Amino acid sequence: MEYIHAPWRAQYVKNVYKTKGCIFCQALKQEDDREAFILYRGRNNFIILNKYPYTPGHLMIAPFRHLDSPEKATKAAAHEMGDIQVLCLKILRDHYQPQGFNIGMNLGKCAGAGVASHYHIHLIPRWPGDSNFMPLVGETRVVIESLETTFEQLAPRFREHA
Ligand SMILES: [Zn+2]
Repeated sequence: MEYIHAPWRAQYVKNVYKTKGCIFCQALKQEDDREAFILYRGRNNFIILNKYPYTPGHLMIAPFRHLDSPEKATKAAAHEMGDIQVLCLKILRDHYQPQGFNIGMNLGKCAGAGVASHYHIHLIPRWPGDSNFMPLVGETRVVIESLETTFEQLAPRFREHA
């Protein structure tokens, strides 16, 4: 295991021991969206920054309801999630000019879900060669932008659509 620059790591270890229950439901209960890193609240879903991003701009979309799989959501919630995904793509593409994206869900612990009880979509902007210095396997990651910076830059853009 190698650490190039991982200022979030100590916080991560602290949070893992501190956090009880669902991180998505807890974030929703916080009074300050800025502290919870919630970028956008729709009618049924919200966008939150991943606190341990693979690349800058790593977002997650999750439903308000604590459900473990999308087929349990209402049609309206499922459709809105699709719309929000498109909104994320537009804003991330415009802001970061990534060359690609990884978008997807891990349903169930065996599929790699960190939080299996509350489903969520990951959107990860990608650049050519980023895996050379930000490998997704192992513990070596480089974070080149703080979460606060990401939030400050992206939040106004999402607010325009709220
Ligand atoms: Zn939850």
